[in-house]
Amino acid sequence: MQVLKFGGTSVGNAQAFVQVAEIVQAARQQDADTVVVTSAMSGVTNQLFAAARAAATGDHDAYLRARDELLAKHQMVAGQLVTDGTERAALGRLLEERLQGFERLCRSIAILGELTARGLDVVAGMGERLAAPLLAAVLRARGLPAEAVDAADLIVTDNNFGAAEPLMEASRDKSRNKLLPLLARGILPVCTGYVGATVEGIPTTLGRGASDYSATILGACLDAREVQIWTDVDGILTADPRVVPQARTLPELSYGETAELAYFGAKVLHPNAVHPVIDKGISLRILNTFNPKHPGTRVVKDAHLTDGTVKAISAIKGLCMIAVEGRGMMGVPGIAARTFAAAARQKANVLMISQASSEQSICFVIPQGDRAKVVPALEAEFHAELTRRLVDQVSAMENIVIVAVVGYGMRGIPGIAAKVFGALGEAAINVIAVAQGSSEANISLVVAQGDADEAVRQIHTAFQLDKLPVTAGAPAR
Ligand code: ASP
Ligand code: MG
Repeated sequence: MQVLKFGGTSVGNAQAFVQVAEIVQAARQQDADTVVVTSAMSGVTNQLFAAARAAATGDHDAYLRARDELLAKHQMVAGQLVTDGTERAALGRLLEERLQGFERLCRSIAILGELTARGLDVVAGMGERLAAPLLAAVLRARGLPAEAVDAADLIVTDNNFGAAEPLMEASRDKSRNKLLPLLARGILPVCTGYVGATVEGIPTTLGRGASDYSATILGACLDAREVQIWTDVDGILTADPRVVPQARTLPELSYGETAELAYFGAKVLHPNAVHPVIDKGISLRILNTFNPKHPGTRVVKDAHLTDGTVKAISAIKGLCMIAVEGRGMMGVPGIAARTFAAAARQKANVLMISQASSEQSICFVIPQGDRAKVVPALEAEFHAELTRRLVDQVSAMENIVIVAVVGYGMRGIPGIAAKVFGALGEAAINVIAVAQGSSEANISLVVAQGDADEAVRQIHTAFQLDKLPVTAGAPAR
């Protein structure tokens, strides 16, 4: 059993659909038990979000325009690749029906003038609900017995709309009950990524970019041998190639390293996607739809191929560093607890924490967008301390970046941090704060936005990541 997931660019236009069809065809010759998971066509989810938000302001034109554009975009692919007239007409009706649903939803949002997280999830998941039947029809046109499946019938989630988490046992039952009989009949299921439904059947989404997560959830539920994430780059790279042109594809990376990189901004894989497959030891590969012969990156339990210490560097931009400072804080218990409790009440995502041992300040990093909620919340929390000058101020430094240096090989090897700081020192890059995870698999640095790219390049060179040994990995297929 294998699960093949295709991202938005892999189903971005008719040519890409043809590539996908070829990959699926070849994969199925290797293993008849193949399940496909698809994202929305690239750009569609953003368009759906924009339309829903515009509707909430009473803008009817925006969603009517989106409806027409989305219909044209999907029909264009169908027109080129679904050659059978009857099939194409049936698909056309289905697309129109779904888009009428979208229009009705947006109209009610516009009338209510309010967009709830629950309503937004129905709209947001529409892209996958258009892409899956389209891909299934394209695959049928190429002789594959494909059938679209809505993941609302497979993945059961909690009701945390916009970032729902799967309930694994219920999902296992549902997905096996639905998919195994299809597979037994020789059918190729084409499932919607990104979406699920609560126990009551209310539609949810798993969060932006979470079709990867859908694929690994289904892989775990089906006890798959392998999950393949087909994207538009050759795998996980040592750094963002737009920043470091010499960046290389990593032949192997461990689950842990992959999760750290994803969490710290590497865009290839959703940060949660490794979780469902770790315990089961399911093989996970990142592959390029547009360069299918490349072996890509294999995510494994313990990465050993590159015995280098540092494997990759990622950067997460658009952040803000909050500091609670004051000489009077020294030795006062509970300041840290109250700081993070206040941030948590605002649902701020704390990406990194750093406290100097003098205890005169607690710093933490959050997305820039959360600043407006968090600073006033902290000022309210420490109102008494601020008045008595135990806490001097709550400050915020905007436009900062976390640069994460990742690699399990750093464990127990002295001098890594010195090398990182040496490289930055030579380039006169100021490090604002530092944190190291206790796993020692990650050193995170805070630098100013303007220094971030250069910092990544310097560290990349210092660890000679451009000279990564090229492994003769087995070809993708
Ligand atoms: N279509 C969704 C998004 O754009 C999910 C995904 O592509 O993974 O966030
Ligand atoms: Mg993605």
